[in-house]
Amino acid sequence: MELRRIELYEIWVKLREEFETSFGKTIERPAILIRVEEKSGEEGWGECVAGEGPWYSYETWETAWHILNEFIVPKVLEKGDIDIDGYENLVSKIRGHNMAKASLEMSLWDLEAKLRGIPLWRLLGGKNRHISSGVSIGIQKSVDELIKKVGDFLEKGYRRIKIKIRPGYDLGPISRIRDEYGYDLPLQVDANSAYRIEDLDVFRKIDNYALLMIEQPLHYKDLVDHAELARHIKTPICLDESIEDVNDARKAYYLGSAMIINIKPGRVGGLKETLKIHDFWYSVANRPVWIGGMLETGIGRGHLVAAATLPGVKYPSDISASDKYFEKDIVEPEWVLNKDSTITAPERPGIGVEVLFDEIKKGVRRSKVFSRT
Ligand SMILES: [Mg+2]
Repeated sequence: MELRRIELYEIWVKLREEFETSFGKTIERPAILIRVEEKSGEEGWGECVAGEGPWYSYETWETAWHILNEFIVPKVLEKGDIDIDGYENLVSKIRGHNMAKASLEMSLWDLEAKLRGIPLWRLLGGKNRHISSGVSIGIQKSVDELIKKVGDFLEKGYRRIKIKIRPGYDLGPISRIRDEYGYDLPLQVDANSAYRIEDLDVFRKIDNYALLMIEQPLHYKDLVDHAELARHIKTPICLDESIEDVNDARKAYYLGSAMIINIKPGRVGGLKETLKIHDFWYSVANRPVWIGGMLETGIGRGHLVAAATLPGVKYPSDISASDKYFEKDIVEPEWVLNKDSTITAPERPGIGVEVLFDEIKKGVRRSKVFSRT
C-alpha cells in the first residue's frame, strides 16, 4: 500500500452515563482517530484506545499521541509503501506502547480490506458473521441500581451479563443477581486486578455462583499467582491485562494461569497480534477466547466486530451496540443489536461502516496531517 497521507485527530467522546470500574469513573474519554490515505485516494480508519490516565495500561492518550507523532507516523510515511508485515517489522523496534502501535495498524487493515474490496472480517479469516454480544456493566452506586440495570439490558436483548467487581463489591452483587435472575443467566465478573492471592477465601465463595469466568482477578504481572488461584477454584480464569502478546499467552498456558483470554486488539498491538494469540490459544492450546472492548467509538468497534468473527471466539464479546455508550456514534450505520443478542459483521469492504468525517471534524481538539513529499 502506497500511503500518501496519515492524519491524527483527537476527539473527546461523551458517554451516555458514567462507567465505573475498580480503576475509577469515566464519563468522557479521549480518542485518537487515525486516517490513512493511499495514493488512489482510498482511506483506512483506526482508533487508539489509550485512556485519560495510566490505569488500565501505562499508556495514556498523550503518550500515544507522542509515540505516533514522533516515532511511528514519520517512519511509516518515510517508507511509503507498506503492508501489515512491514508495519509490524517497523514498529517492533519500539518497546511497548501497544495501543499507539495498534491504532495505526488497524487503519492499515481497514485500508487493505478496502483495496481488496472485501470486508475486514473476511480478510482476517473470520467465520461467524453474527457475533454474540454481551454487555459489561460498571460498578453501580447500589446493588438495587445494579439489579435494575441488569434487567434493562436483558430487556434490550443482551444474553450475557458481565459486571465489574472490586473488594467489598463482589459477593453482594453476585448473589443478588443470582437471586433475581437465576442460575441460567450467563454471568461473569471482571476485577481488573483488584485482588491479591491472599483473597482466596472470597474467590472460594464466588466459586459457588456458577459464573462463566472470573476476569483478571489478580495483578497483571501475577501469572504465577493466577496459576495458584486456578488450582483452588472451579470457575475458569480469564486473563485480560496480563496478556500483551502471544508470548504472554504461551506463558499463561504453560503455567496454567488461565482457561480463557479476553483479547483486546488495542492492548496487544493490533489485529496481527490478535490473530497470533487467537491461533495459539485456540488452535494449539485448544482453549476459547473472546474479544474485549475499551469504550470504542464506532470505528474501533468495527475492528472489534471483525476480530470477534474468528472461529476461536467461543464466548460473547464485550461489543455492545453504539447506543449502549453514546447518544450518537461517529459512523453510519451505527452498530445495532439483533434480536438474538448478536451484532452482524457487515458485507461492505473494510470495517463496513461509513465514517462521519464532517461530524468528527466538528469535535476535533487537536489534529495533525502528515503528507508524503
Ligand atoms: Mg477486563
